[in-house]
Amino acid sequence: MESIASIRYTIDTENEFYNSEKDYFDENSPKIQQIENELQKIILNSNFKEEFKEKYGEHVLNLAEVGLKTFNEDIIEELKEENKLNSKYVKLLGSVKVNFEGQERNLSQMRPFMLVPDRSKRKEAMKTIFGWFDEHQNEFDDIYDQLVKIRDKMAKKLGYDNFIELAYYRLSRTDYNAEDVANYRKQVEEFVVPVASELRKRQKERINLDKLYYYDEDYSFEGGNPKPEGSTEEKVNKAQKMYKELSKETEEFFNFMVENELMDLDSKKGKTPGGYCTFIFDYDSPFIFSNFNGTSGDVDVLTHEAGHAFQSYQSRHIELPELLFPTLESAEIHSMSMEFITYPWWDLFYGEQTEKAKFMHLSEALLFIPYGVSVDEFQHWVYENPEATPESRRKKWSEIEKKYLPERDYDGVDYLVNGGFWQKQSHIYESPFYYIDYTLAQICAFQFFKKFNEDRKIAWEDYLRLCKAGGSKPFTGLINIANLKNPFKDGSLKETIDFVESYLNKINDKTL
Ligand SMILES: [Zn+2]
Repeated sequence: MESIASIRYTIDTENEFYNSEKDYFDENSPKIQQIENELQKIILNSNFKEEFKEKYGEHVLNLAEVGLKTFNEDIIEELKEENKLNSKYVKLLGSVKVNFEGQERNLSQMRPFMLVPDRSKRKEAMKTIFGWFDEHQNEFDDIYDQLVKIRDKMAKKLGYDNFIELAYYRLSRTDYNAEDVANYRKQVEEFVVPVASELRKRQKERINLDKLYYYDEDYSFEGGNPKPEGSTEEKVNKAQKMYKELSKETEEFFNFMVENELMDLDSKKGKTPGGYCTFIFDYDSPFIFSNFNGTSGDVDVLTHEAGHAFQSYQSRHIELPELLFPTLESAEIHSMSMEFITYPWWDLFYGEQTEKAKFMHLSEALLFIPYGVSVDEFQHWVYENPEATPESRRKKWSEIEKKYLPERDYDGVDYLVNGGFWQKQSHIYESPFYYIDYTLAQICAFQFFKKFNEDRKIAWEDYLRLCKAGGSKPFTGLINIANLKNPFKDGSLKETIDFVESYLNKINDKTL
């Protein structure tokens, strides 16, 4: 019921019935968590703990232990408050309405303007959007400030120094800690940031500009970025053909999605922005939500979100719901890898622009990593300093941006120059510390990209094995199952990035 209510709410946030359903779950999910908590205690204190471990593996016990570390009855009121604040943020973000070129538009509908060849229009579109954020800055600050304080309070009630360790446990990270992540960020600074800078330089030359401003960053090619062809229906048909040819497993899966109408793809008024994949338990069925807008983002949904959906479909045989889905950094491996696995079929969507689309996709994947670790480093600072003011948070954000995104220039837009960019990043509000996950998974997806370039058959076996394993192991266990290298280990990051860099270097992007 919760899955369905939540899906319907995100499809129409103005619907009264699903608004009240949402309120109901905000109010009651902490009580359900309490019951889960009881269950975890029973398992861990059971006389049959060893037998349980033998049957279901060690991971489920570790998850239960971590679960117990994140909750007790004293924090129920704070959890409810946190839910309400999150919903307030979702609502605020969903309420973005700007007038642009004579029409009222939401965030997703503004995205295409950020990619048009006319630079002054890109600039204007970005200014309009961040103008809206600027007008609502106090509301954004206020929600975040309350969230930080309430999370800090919960952490202290549970006996932690601050929210960070609790946040890691809430994300069920059983096999790495903040130190490992800090060491990983350092490797990103050393090995990824210089390659990203080089890519920005190539981009600048490619699109004939003396200087790249923030509104040029997503504009990859003169004359415009490659766009997929056709209507939503046509794109879905193409995806169906692609998955049919890719493997018998993907064929069966995608037919299931289409035949059971498990995708809501078009952008509509009142829909929350972005895209996601979720799972409806009673029906063993994935569901894909997105906001198609005619950009390459549409193909990303049909590959990325479909990758998530494929994993949950492959692991639906797993008996314990706790082990169906992996933790978040592992979950993104399936989706991000699927983007690369589908490369040979991209001509269905992009026609003559296929090579361009792939070059853009691969470079954007790499360029994302420094931004991703910025979001992560920022949050570590925020929760280490829960008493910091909104102003000092902004200052810190700017500082971090300069380290990881040295080329970024906001062309004098005050709200952004002063460090406001992160307020648009919903994870920072709703799912604290869920972000480094995307970069870790990206590194793993790059490894799959390399494998698929070397031997598609072996690579597909590794990938399928990973999907079927669901969440039966923690991150480092799953990457072993898939024969991938651990990104926390010194050296593995460099090796992976070297491959991507040399692949990109072999392409003469100016002739595309
Ligand atoms: Zn994803």
